[in-house]
Amino acid sequence: MRATDHMPTELRLPTNAIVQPDKDRFLNEENPFEAMMLRFDRAAELLDLEPGLYKVLRKPEKQIIVACPVMMDNGEIEVFTGIRVLYNTSRGPAKGGIRFDMQVTLDEVTALAAWMTWKCAVVNVPFGGSKGGVICDPLKMSAGELERLTRRYTVGIIATLGPDSDVPAPDVNTNERVMAWIMDTYSMRMGHTVTAVVTGKPVEMGGSMGRREATGRGCTFVTKEALAHLGMTVRGTTVAVQGFGNVGSVTAHLLTREGCKVVAVSDRTGALYTPPGLDIDDVLAYVRHNKTLEGYIKAQALSNDELLTLDVDVLVPAAMENVITTKNAPKVRAKIICEGANGPTTAAADSILEEKGIFVIPDILANAGGVTVSYFEWVQDRGGYFWSEETVNERLRDLMVRSFRDVLELSRQHKVNMRTAAYMLSISRVATVHRLRGIYA
Ligand code: NAD
Repeated sequence: MRATDHMPTELRLPTNAIVQPDKDRFLNEENPFEAMMLRFDRAAELLDLEPGLYKVLRKPEKQIIVACPVMMDNGEIEVFTGIRVLYNTSRGPAKGGIRFDMQVTLDEVTALAAWMTWKCAVVNVPFGGSKGGVICDPLKMSAGELERLTRRYTVGIIATLGPDSDVPAPDVNTNERVMAWIMDTYSMRMGHTVTAVVTGKPVEMGGSMGRREATGRGCTFVTKEALAHLGMTVRGTTVAVQGFGNVGSVTAHLLTREGCKVVAVSDRTGALYTPPGLDIDDVLAYVRHNKTLEGYIKAQALSNDELLTLDVDVLVPAAMENVITTKNAPKVRAKIICEGANGPTTAAADSILEEKGIFVIPDILANAGGVTVSYFEWVQDRGGYFWSEETVNERLRDLMVRSFRDVLELSRQHKVNMRTAAYMLSISRVATVHRLRGIYA
């Protein structure tokens, strides 16, 4: 059997499907670009953003599409499509992950790049926003094929890559290993080692302590802030976490350590529920051994939909986009939603949650711990001086708590919800820099 026999033929996606997306296909509740733009428009209106700047901030700066020919293990050539979008670089180098996935589209990558722009601005790290993706199914490729694809994609986008221009990180289906290949390819082309070209690298080659846990740790800091704001105690707070991967499992673990009762967790195989609280260390050990939650017998089984509407104090959607929609938002009973995932709530569901008085910590604030420690990694690489894990965690806490309070203050001033306030804060920060810099030429 040839190596390409089990590869979906859709790998050779028609380029025009990507360059000129059929707009009607995307105009729905779940289109990430539309979801981002609806929130952007609301914040821009409240900020009374000048029409010129409004136009500038609604457009990505650069969209790159590259063909990546790869010699497969069987000696045949396959051509993959790679995308990189630099949305806005006015505040500093673009920052954003790279995903390897069959669902990658230019629209989605652009929305995610815009999200990164606002996320970096909310926590006030000196980065712009970008995102990248390659249309492929990495689970059907060998390590050698993935390495050759990564290196070819890196060379395809190398003109804009660099510690001062665009700094990738891991995202869906990419990891430390992939970052190491990107760093090596870039360094070989430059003729010297450039660690700061990517973040999320192995610690042995310039990665930061605490990066792996950073997003979940950040979620924990802002959840505690929200509880304090609402006059609730941390101890005994009930929590449901959707998604038990990097973000969800770390959040569940750290909130348990703080005295919360994590009563439900889930992954793509289903959900577990124990009203008195799950033994999270035991669940973690089970998943380390069995890969998924499937088959864990010391808890009641639940569906992922049921988990979202449990009667808990805090709900942490930490799996994927568009899980809280107009269909289930009326049934959500949590008092606080901490958006560990990117885009878990559709724009249409926002107003339902607001009417119900649910306090939402929006994704661009809640899960910004990851990019914050990526920023710390970039700083450490450039300074050539590495911090202890305690220092990383302490600085992460300072930055997350300060950002939460900045957003809360703005939401009080303008009498808007936390999401609108977060967008207002980030858009105003990006707009200020554009005003100061002026329009070139
Ligand atoms: P991951 O792959 O480690 O974990 C994802 C988890 O979600 C897995 O347990 C998976 O089984 C589960 N899942 C998938 N589909 C599901 C479904 N339909 N229902 C319930 N669970 C499901 O990914 P991650 O790094 O933890 O990322 C999760 C989310 O957080 C994504 O939206 C990602 O973009 C976002 N995020 C991650 C980071 C980071 O540093 N890892 C930073 C910012 C945002």
